[in-house]
Amino acid sequence: MSGADGYSVLFEPVQIGPVTARNRFYQVPHCNGLGHLRPQAEAAMRAMKAEGGWAVVSTQEAEIHPTSDLSPYSENRIWDDRDIPALRLITNSIHEKGSLAAIQLAHNGHHAQNHLTRAPLLAPSELVLQTPYPKQARAMDKSDIREFRKWHRDAARRSREAGFDIVYVYAGHHMTLPHHFLLPQFNDRPDEYGGSIENRVRLTRELLEDTKEEVGDDCAIALRFAVDEMLGSDGMQAQEEGRAVVELLAELPDLWDVNVADWSNDSATTRFEPRDGFQTSYIEFVKQVTSKPVVGVGRLTSPDLMVSLVKKGILDFIGAARPSIADPFLPNKIKEGRVEEIRECIGCNICVSSDALGVPIRCTQNPTMGEEWRRKWHPEIIERRGNEEAALVVGSGPAGLECAMQLARRGYEVTLAEAKQELGGRVLQESGLTGLSAWKRVTDHRIYDLQQRGNVHLFTDSRLSASEVVELGIPNVFLATGATWRRDGRGKSAFRGVSIESASLVLTPDDIMSGVVPEDGPIMVYDDDQGYLGGVLADHLAQAGQEVVFVTPASMVSPFTELTLEQTKVQRSLLEKGVRLTLSQTLTSVAPSQAILRCVYTERERPIECSSVVLVTQRARETALYDELRGLADSPLSKLELIGDAANPGLIADAVYSGHMAARNFERDAGDIDREFFRREIVSLETK
Ligand code: ADP
Ligand code: SF4
Repeated sequence: MSGADGYSVLFEPVQIGPVTARNRFYQVPHCNGLGHLRPQAEAAMRAMKAEGGWAVVSTQEAEIHPTSDLSPYSENRIWDDRDIPALRLITNSIHEKGSLAAIQLAHNGHHAQNHLTRAPLLAPSELVLQTPYPKQARAMDKSDIREFRKWHRDAARRSREAGFDIVYVYAGHHMTLPHHFLLPQFNDRPDEYGGSIENRVRLTRELLEDTKEEVGDDCAIALRFAVDEMLGSDGMQAQEEGRAVVELLAELPDLWDVNVADWSNDSATTRFEPRDGFQTSYIEFVKQVTSKPVVGVGRLTSPDLMVSLVKKGILDFIGAARPSIADPFLPNKIKEGRVEEIRECIGCNICVSSDALGVPIRCTQNPTMGEEWRRKWHPEIIERRGNEEAALVVGSGPAGLECAMQLARRGYEVTLAEAKQELGGRVLQESGLTGLSAWKRVTDHRIYDLQQRGNVHLFTDSRLSASEVVELGIPNVFLATGATWRRDGRGKSAFRGVSIESASLVLTPDDIMSGVVPEDGPIMVYDDDQGYLGGVLADHLAQAGQEVVFVTPASMVSPFTELTLEQTKVQRSLLEKGVRLTLSQTLTSVAPSQAILRCVYTERERPIECSSVVLVTQRARETALYDELRGLADSPLSKLELIGDAANPGLIADAVYSGHMAARNFERDAGDIDREFFRREIVSLETK
């Protein structure tokens, strides 16, 4: 299908109870680390979605009462009337751009920990917290349930006062009381709120009725419901109780927002769920049961898939959290026939990690995400160039490509030189590993953009020396020369490196990614980095049939991936592929057929048999060209900046951000740039 006309069905208005959405693009609630601590930043971020064409823009979950306190995470908060002004900032910003504003009311039950409020924890039954914190929730009695319903009703009223058009009842992700009441794994009550599905659904029904009665004349009432727990017969399944819930409540909400639980399954990464639209088979029954509009998700970025989901009668609204983060202007790009310009989500969950860290959202694909208020970055608009006319970018990894693309958008004559035969740097390498192929979208998007522009000159197979840079006669130079993995073992656990006997076969991630395959096993992957790459490499080698031993000082595989909701899946995948896990051990020395490990607790040493070792420890910045150019006596360069991994090794998201920042800030006042670091929302000292 091609041309905007083929997508016209996506731009039909749809009525939701008393309100009408101008098209079928629906930004479902998503966390972002802004929330009640950073309301201005959240308002600016949500406004960008509305400007980009999302007809409905939702908040993240909004805690309705101090007994649902998610501190230290910064979600939205609607505890009392004093929260209304901050929320009104958000609704105003969405309305100004012509979209509807939705709020996801949440009581998190025993998913909250109430660290700030120290309020009692509530649950359908006596339950222990899922976190290591040794606290329990008490089973709610009838008066607790009555109170909870009142809090929810009050929050709905405040939502209307704050200007929301759609008010949610939230029964999903294993994260809220209505969901906990629905599920036998949390609810063994003997009364009318437990037992049969009719009883377990009672609380959700009451909340829907209460909310409708309170605000239903003005606001649409949405139900967010996880139709399947993805636990097989151990949990709620879409075709059994999931369907029964939809049948029991079919016409009660004005909108069904359906997905799967828990959050790690709903926001599955491409590493473990590569298919766009992966939730379709779970949610497709819903529209057969209800006449109300249905929104669903599943990393929907392809307009053809969107059209088919609507035309087949599976969805009324194209729901998106991550695709709207990666490209807030996705709807407008489809409408304007600019489908090739969509910045597709790569499913890496770096956005999710920000929420887990309690810091403003960031995105690998969209470096402006979370910076709409602080730096006033707009994903589609960038300042025209100043007095300078041309720029040279050296290196075509994520930093170099992003920098070149933004400089070109600003109107500079851009030359990009890459030493290798193909553009892409680390993204090209990493996307060749098992499970990471979707990451190539980072370079695909940028290379495509650069190739469309008349003011860009791309050179591959062009390793530049300092004299060649000078000879080019371009006075403004950005060096994105990257970093390489060290071969000496220096890292978190070994500042001075590891003792390595000559004749030992020591490899680095760069070797493996370049296709080096050791002939004999076992291969030891030593993951001192503890990010994602060590686990990916072990998986990749095991998948290729190698015998792999995974050694790490951490007490689990790839602890970083807890932040991206992947850790359990990572460890399970290695175990299922027969990788031997040796945890809580550092590597002290390597010999040709064995290595010596040391327990991080007892310091006891022991040998381990291996024919080769892949060291995932630390990266060395590639600064030779920078050092040489900086050292030139009579440098003709007026600008020389090191960016990306060459400046600070980090995530691909960090490299993209660094390239973006350098391009935006070129020819800007240094004082203005510096002041942006200090721009933040300062807590009021007012006491009331
Ligand atoms: P980043 O993540 O910062 O973008 P990468 O490691 O992904 O960094 O990419 C760096 C790229 O720079 C690599 O593709 C590498 O081949 C290239 N490169 C390094 N030095 C030179 C050089 N002197 N001339 C041209 N390209 C270079
Ligand atoms: Fe998608 Fe990754 Fe961006 Fe999240 S951070 S929206 S998963 S590209």
